[in-house]
Amino acid sequence: MSMDGVRVGQGFDAHRFAAPGSGRELWLAGLEWPGQGEGVEGDSDGDVAVHALIDALLSAAGLGDIGGLFGVGKSSQGAGQHGIPMLERTVAHVRAHGFEPQSASVVIIGNRPKIGPHRAQAQEALSRAAGCPVTVTATTTDGMGFTGAGEGIAAIANALVLMRSDR
Ligand code: MG
Repeated sequence: MSMDGVRVGQGFDAHRFAAPGSGRELWLAGLEWPGQGEGVEGDSDGDVAVHALIDALLSAAGLGDIGGLFGVGKSSQGAGQHGIPMLERTVAHVRAHGFEPQSASVVIIGNRPKIGPHRAQAQEALSRAAGCPVTVTATTTDGMGFTGAGEGIAAIANALVLMRSDR
C-alpha cells in the first residue's frame, strides 16, 4: 500500500471535575456516565475524549484546532453542546476539505469513570460519529499529577486521515 496522502494527527484535552453537589452530568467518549460522580466543568459538556479526538482529526487534516473551528468560551459554537454532534460537524469539515478519516485511538487518563464496562459502547458511539474505527483505552497515573489527585480527566487521541486523490 502506498502511504501517499496518509496524514496523522494528535490531540490532547483536560477538564476539571465540577464541585461535588453541582449536579453536573458526567459525559465522556460520547456517553453519559450516570452514578459515577460529578461531571467536569466546561462551556460544552466537557467530553475530553471527543475534544482530543476532534483536535487529532483537525491536526491530521491541517485544519487548525477545536478552538478555531468552534470558537472558545461561553459564546463558542460548542457551548451547551454534547461531544457527538461536535465530532460529526468536525468530520464533515474534514471531509469537505478532501480528507477521509481512516482510524483513530483515544487514551482516557483519570481515576473515574471506570471505562472497561462501557468500552464497547464508547467505541461504537465514537466510531459511528467519526466515520472510522475508533478504539478507547484508559489508564490512571498511579496517584500522580492532577488526574491522579482526582482533580479532572484528560485524554490523548491519535487520528489517521487519507487525502482524497481528487482533492
Ligand atoms: Mg475541551
